[in-house]
Amino acid sequence: MKALLIIIDGAADRALKSLNRKTPLEVAHKPNIDKLAKDGITGIMDPITPGISVGSDTAHLALLGYDPFKTYTGRGAFEALGAGVELKPGEIAFRTNFATVDENMRVIDRRAGRYIEEAKEFEKIINSISLKDNPDVEIFFKHTVEHRGVLVLRGKGLSRFISDTDPHKIGVRVLESKPLVDTPEAKKTANVINEFTRIIYNLLKDHPLNRSRAKRGLPPANILLLRGAGVLPTIKPLSEKFKIKAACIAGIALVKGVAKAVGMDIINVPGATGGLDTDVLAKVKYAIKALRDYDFVFIHYKGTDAASHDGNVWAKIRMIERIDSAVGYLIERIKLDETYIVITADHATLTEETRNHSGDFVPLLIHGPGVISDDVDMFCERACLKGGLGRIRGLDLMNIIMNYLNKVEKFGE
Ligand code: ZN
Ligand code: ZN
Repeated sequence: MKALLIIIDGAADRALKSLNRKTPLEVAHKPNIDKLAKDGITGIMDPITPGISVGSDTAHLALLGYDPFKTYTGRGAFEALGAGVELKPGEIAFRTNFATVDENMRVIDRRAGRYIEEAKEFEKIINSISLKDNPDVEIFFKHTVEHRGVLVLRGKGLSRFISDTDPHKIGVRVLESKPLVDTPEAKKTANVINEFTRIIYNLLKDHPLNRSRAKRGLPPANILLLRGAGVLPTIKPLSEKFKIKAACIAGIALVKGVAKAVGMDIINVPGATGGLDTDVLAKVKYAIKALRDYDFVFIHYKGTDAASHDGNVWAKIRMIERIDSAVGYLIERIKLDETYIVITADHATLTEETRNHSGDFVPLLIHGPGVISDDVDMFCERACLKGGLGRIRGLDLMNIIMNYLNKVEKFGE
């Protein structure tokens, strides 16, 4: 028996005015997913607990069976792992932005024009930095996409409990990193970051690469803003917890990083962009192949969440419909009597109100051999309220799936 988990990021929503008080999942034409709901069991799920709005990282930890309150150690670590950076215990990882500051270190553009052609050359410069005040700490930087990257501090006695240098808005100065706890480690790490920030500005402000950018009318990439300090979480991998081989197919670094942290193999799929333009079918094709070698395969689709952040309800609906067609391709090609298919969202994203994540519940369906079906015949928030699974927590999901696979150990005798 195998299981395939499909998470449609931020797919859940509220009853929207523009849709006559229906949700995008209710309006989308998705015959394949609805058929799975009809033949399977459904319910609703609070990714963490009712009303708690969650990030994609903490939600995925919960959905993969790890209590985020115990295992979450900062976003930077997941971004680094997802970007393919090896992270060792004790090393501190940050998410970074190339940005543009003026001579007073005031942020003019948080993305330095977004597309940094010279990123690989800047990467080399950053990796050649050695710290004078903190010679025992090594800097490692990897550019990822556009203006984004990952920075890792390697050395002894470091802490993730320090504040960001990224002010998260323009018109204000780059922030000084401060220790968030009163420990020598936090003080040292804040000091390292502040020294690094000074050095990088001095290196980049008049650098020929930036002079050439200026000539072409592009904003200089003269600072690296840091945020989301994190360390590797100490986690018992899925292979030990449930004795399974698990793989992840995702387009975005954050989700790949969470999957890697819990011990999943990452399958990189060409055309998986993590956006609305992602190749929905390619992910499914790779998943079908992966199901031969793995007990548990997880596919993540991000486009729905991106559409909600943009406030674009019809882009969200179209993305759901595209995913449905990929699910149609899938169910014609896998052995449904040997595979459990689970479909849900990691959280709701409110397309009309906040254009951000919320603490609303999400719908959930499980289809597979021996599953007792309920009367629900549609995969959406409203219909799944009547589902046989009732209302569960995200943290229960993995146990429920592993129970169907008969992988859960007996409690007691
Ligand atoms: Zn998400
Ligand atoms: Zn989001």
